[in-house]
Amino acid sequence: MSCTPTWAHWLARNAVVKVRRQLSWGGRFETGLGISPADRIPCPWAVTMMHVFWDGRVPRCPGDTEGEEGVGNAWHDSLANLWGQLGAYRDLHLERDFDALPERCHTCTDWMTGAAERLRPRNDDTRVKPAQQRLSTPMVQ
Ligand code: SF4
Repeated sequence: MSCTPTWAHWLARNAVVKVRRQLSWGGRFETGLGISPADRIPCPWAVTMMHVFWDGRVPRCPGDTEGEEGVGNAWHDSLANLWGQLGAYRDLHLERDFDALPERCHTCTDWMTGAAERLRPRNDDTRVKPAQQRLSTPMVQ
């Protein structure tokens, strides 16, 4: 029996595969990553995104899959307001005031895994992209 990496399986099927190091999902799981705290960077997850759960809850941390630390609910507040409420946390990250962040950020290693690599199938250039398909499809009157 051969052992094919998961990404090879999908590349062979013309999928673009996004690969990154293992996430700890907000410190929930251990990872093999070990970057010195002295080299810590602002968490890419915290400074670039906001997650919204199916029931409208917005967690403080995008890796907080259970919503244990919430900042509000998108059913009752605007996304702009919720994004604004996360601003104080973004500021702490960007000012590198990591000690002032909530406890979850102290043990989490996901700030080390913000970057990802996109692997493209070899014949990716020849594929018809969905947008091109739409443009080349004659309009039905
Ligand atoms: S460093 Fe903090 S904000 Fe970033 S993923 Fe981890 S717990 Fe979430």
